[in-house]
Amino acid sequence: MSKSFRPETYDPPRCWVGDTQKIIYATREEAEAAARVAERDHHTGPLGVYKCPYADHYHLTSL
Ligand SMILES: [Zn+2]
Repeated sequence: MSKSFRPETYDPPRCWVGDTQKIIYATREEAEAAARVAERDHHTGPLGVYKCPYADHYHLTSL
């Protein structure tokens, strides 16, 4: 019983962009899907997708 699964400890891959860490999305489609979910479920306001200037992946940004 000592092993407990704690999904809240799951940490998605992140990338340092300036002074903040942003979640990495491997594809534009994946990032756009995540943006739609966040807008709907977390009331974040409109989110945009952009390609990371440092590596070959995508991030979200508030518009
Ligand atoms: Zn990045």
